[in-house]
Amino acid sequence: MVAKRQPDLSEAIATGGMMLLPPAPDVCQTCAVKHEPEQPHNQQSLYYQVAFHAKYGRWPTWDDALAHVEPDIQRFWRAALRKRGVEIALEPTTKGGDPDAPGLGVGDGAP
Ligand SMILES: [Zn+2]
Repeated sequence: MVAKRQPDLSEAIATGGMMLLPPAPDVCQTCAVKHEPEQPHNQQSLYYQVAFHAKYGRWPTWDDALAHVEPDIQRFWRAALRKRGVEIALEPTTKGGDPDAPGLGVGDGAP
């Protein structure tokens, strides 16, 4: 018999009438997609979009998904996204990012 993993409802996010269960333990806890921590969140992830909206009251952009990423890696992703038609600045920005993202210095750009 296989034991089923029961979701921990204490970690659920209330999203205006819905409850969003936490992601599986082996994926990014911000976007629910498997990626290295130094890589961007998947802005297309439905979990990321709904959880972000519940927290900040707006939908996440690629700038948000990239906000915790080192500038050199951001430039790579920004160029790749632009090649695919995403309107995004080539130069990294920390403004508008997820202030809770690891490695992001609050996002005000102040020294
Ligand atoms: Zn992620």
